Amino acid sequence: MNAVVPEAAATSPERLRLTEIFLSLQGESRSIGWPTVFVRLTGCPLRCQYCDTAYAFHGGEWWDFDGILAEVARHGVRHVCVTGGEPLAQKRCIGLLERLCDAGYEVSLETSGSIDIAPVDLRVSRVLDIKTPGSAEVERNLWSNIAQLTPNDQVKFVVCSREDYDWAKAVIAEHRLVERCEVLMSPSFSQVRPRELADWIVADRLPVRFQMQLHKVLWDDEPGR
Ligand code: SF4
Repeated sequence: MNAVVPEAAATSPERLRLTEIFLSLQGESRSIGWPTVFVRLTGCPLRCQYCDTAYAFHGGEWWDFDGILAEVARHGVRHVCVTGGEPLAQKRCIGLLERLCDAGYEVSLETSGSIDIAPVDLRVSRVLDIKTPGSAEVERNLWSNIAQLTPNDQVKFVVCSREDYDWAKAVIAEHRLVERCEVLMSPSFSQVRPRELADWIVADRLPVRFQMQLHKVLWDDEPGR
């Protein structure tokens, strides 16, 4: 990864701590399959039991916004996904999202659902996790986020068991989620067989979009892919 000179970034009020910037295919969400630049911010206050990006909890390097924008531009694609970790744990992420939108990119944000999304630019498609009991972080859900959702956003459940699936179904009904935005559901890798979850959704005719993480199928979850 080509970081900006740390001294220069350290003096900038527009800086963020990043674990990596890389080009890949979007592996999930509504933008699945598009060549996408991923900007992975360092740090997360949660500890989901299935987390596949624990390498982003610590470390990273300071980048200023101009450096990030230049690195994104170098890859020459239209889609940019700001992810983590939990990107919103760094407050300056809001400014970066705005800059990316102003530059004309299709911007998405992957967030844990535990931090207020209200300050996020509405041009950004916010992919909001709702943590299930099986994640071990269900108590971190910030339920007031649901009122902020627009049709440009997406809600995502990672399902770890049949109990999680039933819980998610109840949440979808209680909060009328499908009337607010698209609802995504994916199996927790190695905990629920994809086919099992697919069968449950079909049997219930649940109006959600089933997802398998494409990058895991293609590249077996290598970091940076
Ligand atoms: S919110 Fe995301 S990055 Fe944070 S622990 Fe959970 S899965 Fe990992």
